[in-house]
Amino acid sequence: MDATKERRPAVDGWFTPAPDVRLLGTRCTACGTPYFPRNDLACRNPACEGPRDGSELTEHTLSATGRVWSFADARYRPPPPSVSPEPFRPYIVAAVELDAERMVVLGRVAPDVSLDDLAVGQTVELTEGVLYEDDTTAYTVWMWRPLP
Ligand SMILES: [Zn+2]
Repeated sequence: MDATKERRPAVDGWFTPAPDVRLLGTRCTACGTPYFPRNDLACRNPACEGPRDGSELTEHTLSATGRVWSFADARYRPPPPSVSPEPFRPYIVAAVELDAERMVVLGRVAPDVSLDDLAVGQTVELTEGVLYEDDTTAYTVWMWRPLP
């Protein structure tokens, strides 16, 4: 990547930028259910005893680490509205169960990580990587990276 390019999130408000990459969601103050992507409408937990009008939901910064639940390499271009660099480069996608929330979040794996570096149950952490670039800007997303 060209270091002179501006870096900005490919989508606003879904994660904090490097060096402390964290996913941004919401959480129910009545029952504790976390949401990512954020949910601002009402808690969806059928057992929740909160008001369920949205007032029970607050900002929540999710865990930065989790364990690989599943992963696969993507060797085809994802369909729109997904974006990818030209020319297309295969990438790895991982479903990761977050440590504290016990919810599974999908994300790309950092491009310097190979399939041989990954295993189900392995601990990974969030990092930031470039999803695609134009002439002036590198658009970033959260990515997973194995912890040593
Ligand atoms: Zn709730």
